[in-house]
Amino acid sequence: MARYTGSVCRICRRENLKLFLKGDRCYSDKCAFDRRSYSPGEHGQRRRGKISDYGVQLREKQKVKRLYGLSEKQFHLLFESADRQKGITGTNLLVLLERRLDNIVYRLGFANSRTQGRHFVRHNHFLVNGKKVNVPSYLIKIGDEISVGESSKKVQAISEAMEAVVRRGVPQWLELEKDQMKGTVKNYPVREDLTMPMQEQLIVELYSK
Ligand code: SF4
Repeated sequence: MARYTGSVCRICRRENLKLFLKGDRCYSDKCAFDRRSYSPGEHGQRRRGKISDYGVQLREKQKVKRLYGLSEKQFHLLFESADRQKGITGTNLLVLLERRLDNIVYRLGFANSRTQGRHFVRHNHFLVNGKKVNVPSYLIKIGDEISVGESSKKVQAISEAMEAVVRRGVPQWLELEKDQMKGTVKNYPVREDLTMPMQEQLIVELYSK
């Protein structure tokens, strides 16, 4: 999979939105977006010109894809899956993104960012319903229990992330038992639970062309 290896802060500046991709740093005065909220590059401070409908749709797709840290192929496959489900395709897509194990690990506060969540999942730090799962794209279901493996409970980066989660809070559709280092999926999120500005309908329009 082609992986973006440049500065992740450039992504926030490019999308003109804080995407919280760097954990603690995003909440500090070191945040590059807070310091320079114009596009990166030589011409970044020029006024953003008028962009076409296609351009608007493309930027929205790029923003959401980057927020969750997916490749184009992964994102498109998830979109196809959302499109096959009953209901509103855009909402289905966001719910599928939220159900990914790397996202749940981040949402429960076991990681400081989705990128860190992915890294931790790949390194076998988590169990789902008591069984090791090291696939970041694994889709969690209602009632699933996600716990930190016994040998991973002393991993300092996980403990540090759990301290930092107080600042952003755990969504109401998840339940965290902090002392036991485990969490449960009570429900799937509804659209109102996802507060990041996202216009998923634009993504549906883009892929429906
Ligand atoms: Fe984005 Fe975080 Fe970098 Fe700020 S610190 S620009 S929110 S990734």
